[in-house]
Amino acid sequence: MLKSLLSSIGVSSFERSAADLFRHYAEQWADTVRQDYFGNTMATMNTGAKYRVLLSAHIDEVGFQVTEVCQNGLLKVRGIGGVCPARLNTQQVVVCADCGYVNGVMVSTPMTNDGKMPDIKDFFVDIDCQNREQAMQLIELGAPVAFMPNYSVHDSVITSKSIDDRVGCYVVLEVMKRLKGGLKKIRLSVAATTQEEIGLRGMAAVAQTEQPDMAINVDVTDAEQLDKTSRPRMGEGCAIVLNADSHAMFRERVIKTASRANIALQKCLGREITGGSDSSRMQIFSPKTLVGELVIPCKYMHSHTEKCSLNDIESCINIITDLLTGLDEELA
Ligand SMILES: [Zn+2]
Repeated sequence: MLKSLLSSIGVSSFERSAADLFRHYAEQWADTVRQDYFGNTMATMNTGAKYRVLLSAHIDEVGFQVTEVCQNGLLKVRGIGGVCPARLNTQQVVVCADCGYVNGVMVSTPMTNDGKMPDIKDFFVDIDCQNREQAMQLIELGAPVAFMPNYSVHDSVITSKSIDDRVGCYVVLEVMKRLKGGLKKIRLSVAATTQEEIGLRGMAAVAQTEQPDMAINVDVTDAEQLDKTSRPRMGEGCAIVLNADSHAMFRERVIKTASRANIALQKCLGREITGGSDSSRMQIFSPKTLVGELVIPCKYMHSHTEKCSLNDIESCINIITDLLTGLDEELA
C-alpha cells in the first residue's frame, strides 16, 4: 500500500488518480466513503458512535503545469506548490496527457555557472519531440506534470517522490485498518485532503463539513540535513509540533501516550509559530474541534528524491492507534 501510494500521481488540483487509490484502500475498512467537489476523500467507520475523530493527510503533491509548447518541441511550465528550482535539472517527470503519461526530463538553458539560483521559468520539459506540431499531438496546454515515480527502500529509509504527504495518507489508512472492529465510542473518519500545497484549500472544505470533536493531521517536516540543523532526526520517531497548530491538551496526551507505551517521539518547533499546514485550517474553520498535528521527519522536501524512515512511520501509526484506543476506553 505504501509503495502504491507513493508511486501514484496527484499534483495539486489534479489529484484524481491518487485520491481514487486512497479510496480503494479505505473502502476495505470503512463503512462509508465519500468524495466532495474539491476531490477530498472522507472514509468513516463505526458510524453510529457519538465522539467524532478525524485523521487527515493531504493527497496532493507539488509539481508543474504546461504553459507553452515551444517551436522546438520543448514544454514551458509553471510550478504548482513550492518546488525548489535548484534541485530540478535533469529530473525525470511525467506529463499527464489525455493519451496517458508521457515521460520527460527537466532541463534548463543556459546552464548557468554565475552563482545565481535558477528559476522555474528557466526550465523546459524535454519529451523527445522535434517540433511544436509533434508535441501538440501528445500534450495539451494546462496538462499537469509530476515527478516520475521512483520508490526505493534501503535499510528502512525510503527514497521517493511525494513522501510529502503520501506517508501521511498511509499512516491514517493503516490506523483505520488496525482499529477496525476495536472501537466502541469513537466514530473514526480518515480524510485525504486536496490542494494543500496551493493554500490548504481542500481542508477548508473538510473542516466545515465534518466538524469533528478531535482532529489529528499527519504531515511531514524538514528533518535535520545539510542546510537544516536543530530539526528532528530521521529514524528517531515521528514528532509532535510545538507551535500554534497543535493544541496544548493534544500535545500533552501524545507525549503521555508515547512515554507510557515506550514509542519513539521527538519534539519539533515547526518552521514558524504556525506552520501553514492543514491543521491550522481545521482550527480556523472548526473552532469546536481539538486539533493536533504529528509530523514525520523528511529530507529534501518538495524534491524528486524525498527521504523518510519506516521507523518514524511506524512510530506515528503506533502513537495514534494507542491514543485512540485509550480515548475509546475513557469514553466507554
Ligand atoms: Zn505536506
